[in-house]
Amino acid sequence: MPETPDPMAAMFPKLGDAQIERLMPFGQQGDVEAGAVIVNQGDSHHGIFVVLKGSIEVRNVSAGDGPVIRVLGRGEFTGEVNVLSGRRTLVRIQAREAGTLLEINRANLRRIMQTDVALGEIFLNAFISRRVYLIANSVGDAVLIGSSHSSDTMRLREFLTRNGHPHHYLDIETDSTVYAILEQFGISVTDIPVLICRGDQALRNPSNAEAAACFGLNDEIDQGEVCDLIVVGGGPSGLAAAVYGASEGLTVQVLERNAPGGQAGASSRIENYLGFPLGISGQELASRAFIQAEKFGARIAIARSATALKSTRSPYTVELDDGKLVRGRSIIMAAGGRYRRLDLPNLAQFEGVGIYYGATRVEAEFCREEEIAVVGGGNSAGQAAMFLSGIAKHVFLLVRGPCLAKTMSQYLISRIEASPQITLMTWTRIEELDGTKDLERVRWRNTKTGADGVLEIRHVFVMTGADPNTEWLQGRVELDANGFIKTGADVSNGWPLRRTPYLLETSLPGVFAVGDIRAGSVKRVASAVGEGSMAVQFVHKVLAE
Ligand SMILES: Cc1cc2nc3c(=O)[nH]c(=O)nc-3n(C[C@H](O)[C@H](O)[C@H](O)COP(=O)(O)OP(=O)(O)OC[C@H]3O[C@@H](n4cnc5c(N)ncnc54)[C@H](O)[C@@H]3O)c2cc1C
Repeated sequence: MPETPDPMAAMFPKLGDAQIERLMPFGQQGDVEAGAVIVNQGDSHHGIFVVLKGSIEVRNVSAGDGPVIRVLGRGEFTGEVNVLSGRRTLVRIQAREAGTLLEINRANLRRIMQTDVALGEIFLNAFISRRVYLIANSVGDAVLIGSSHSSDTMRLREFLTRNGHPHHYLDIETDSTVYAILEQFGISVTDIPVLICRGDQALRNPSNAEAAACFGLNDEIDQGEVCDLIVVGGGPSGLAAAVYGASEGLTVQVLERNAPGGQAGASSRIENYLGFPLGISGQELASRAFIQAEKFGARIAIARSATALKSTRSPYTVELDDGKLVRGRSIIMAAGGRYRRLDLPNLAQFEGVGIYYGATRVEAEFCREEEIAVVGGGNSAGQAAMFLSGIAKHVFLLVRGPCLAKTMSQYLISRIEASPQITLMTWTRIEELDGTKDLERVRWRNTKTGADGVLEIRHVFVMTGADPNTEWLQGRVELDANGFIKTGADVSNGWPLRRTPYLLETSLPGVFAVGDIRAGSVKRVASAVGEGSMAVQFVHKVLAE
C-alpha cells in the first residue's frame, strides 16, 4: 500500500516558479495592502488567489475573530471545494503584509482543472483535504442547537453532515453554553432545533430547503435557460450521469431533494464496489462524485425536489417544490427509491427518535453501549448490523424469513454468523412500538412458532428495501405494476417515434430512467453508476436527432 501522505503537505502545497508561470495566463495580478480583506466569510462566486509576494492569512471566524488556520506565502493558494460550486466561503482571508496576488476566477480554475492534469490534481487534493479539515474542526458558519429526543434535530444533523457542511452541534441536554446563545437570540428552548446561520440569523426548526438557502448551497436556477440535460436525483446513478454528461460538454442541471449519494449515502461501508478493497463509506463515495461532477461544470441544486413533469416533448419543463421551472432538452430520471416503512400505527411518532432508515456515524452515536435492533434481510441490513455491532452492546437482527441466504451477500452472512454481538431472529416481525416520547421497547412475534416477546430497546434500524420515487410521474411515463419506470424494449404504450426506444429510454423520447427507479434494475451501486453513465451516450444521440 502507498506511503501515508503528510496531510499538511496535501492541504497546503507550495507551487514552484514553473507552475506559477503556467498559471499566469489564467489570472489577474493585483497588489494588496497589509490588513486588506481579500475574501470574507459568506462571500461567494469568487475564484482563488495565488500568493506571488507577501503573505495572507486564513482565519477561522466561526465565533468572531478566531485562530489563524494558516499563513500562506509565495506559491501557496486559497480555496476549498466551495470554490467549485460558487458556495459561500466559511473562513476569512486577509493580507498579513502588503503583497501581490494572482486571482484566478472560477471559469478559468475549471479550465485549468480540465486541461492541466498535474495542477488540477494539486488544486483538487488541496480543496478536498481542506474541506475535511473544516468539517473535522467544525470551522464554518453553522451552529445547530438541538436535542437527541428531537427528530427534526436528527433531520438537520443528517442534512448538514451528508452535504458535507461543517457545523457545530450543541445538545441542550449536554452543553451548558446553549442557554447563553439562545438568550442572545431571544429564543426559547422549546423552539429547538435552532440553526444559527453565519452567526447572525437564528432559524427555528428550518426545513432543509430553508437551511440550504441560508447557507447558500444553491445557485439561483435560471428559468429562462434550456440546458442539455436535467438529472432528477443525486444518488449514484444521477451523479454518474452528471459526471459523464458534464465531462462530455453537456450543460447539466441536477436536482437533489436531500443530499448527494441517495440511499448509498446512508451506508456506513460499501465493500462490493469495484476498486475499493477496504470498502468506502457511502458518504465518502458521494462527496467524491459530487466534487467530480462540479469539477466538470455540472450544477447541482440541493434540497430541491422535482414535483411535476410539465410537458410531454422536448424541450421538457420540470416544476420544482418552490414552483420554479427547469427546462432541458433531455432528462435522466435517477430518483431511485424511498425507504419502505414498517406497517405500524405509531411509526411516525418515533421516526428520528428511535426509528432510523440509515446507519451512518450520526445515528450510530446514539447506540453506544446499547442493545438495538436491525430489521431486514438484505445487504443494507447486513451492513448496518455489522457496523453497529462495533458500537452497540448487542444487535438483534430481525428477519421475516427462515434465513439470510436468499437476500444477503455471503461475505455479510459469514460475518454475522461469526459475531457474538449479533443475534439473528428468523421468522420474526415487529408487532408494536412502545414509548411515551422516544421509543422504549418493541414487541415481536415469531410467525412460525407463535412465540412473542419484548425487546427493551430504544433504537431500531429499518432496512426493508425501497419503493420507487415515481408518484410525481404518474401518467407522464409508463410505469410497471410496482411503480418502477419501464424503459427500452419494455416500453409498450404511446411511443410516438418511428425508431424504437433506446436502452434506458422511457415512453417519452429523450427521457431516460436509470438505477433503482428503473423497472428490472439490479438495485446495486455499481449498476446504478453504470446505467447513469451509459444513459449519457443515448442523450447525445437524442440531442443529435
Ligand atoms: C443502507 C443501504 C446500504 C446499501 N449498501 C449497498 C452496498 O454495499 N452495495 C451496493 O451495491 N448497493 C448497496 N445499496 C443499494 C444502493 O445504495 C442503491 O442501489 C443505489 O443507491 C441506487 O442508486 P440510485 O441513484 O438509483 O438511487 P438512490 O440512491 O435512491 O438516489 C436517488 C436520489 O434521488 C433523490 N430524489 C428522489 N426523488 C426526487 C425528486 N422528486 N426530486 C429530486 N431528487 C429526488 C433522492 O433524495 C436520492 O438522493 C445500499 C442501500 C442502502 C439503503
